[in-house]
Amino acid sequence: MVKEVSCINAGFEDCAFLIRSENEDEIVEFVRRHAERVHDTSTSRDHIEKIMVDV
Ligand SMILES: [Zn+2]
Repeated sequence: MVKEVSCINAGFEDCAFLIRSENEDEIVEFVRRHAERVHDTSTSRDHIEKIMVDV
């Protein structure tokens, strides 16, 4: 099943970042890296899993 995480779902409504993958580990890794680089914030796997949706 393909999952999606977007910054909009995380509350960053002015950021167009979005990732889709069947691999949850990959999504978590990408999102954490993006959050640190672009939003200067760290995010937990729990939080990412909460905003992850099936597509
Ligand atoms: Zn973002």
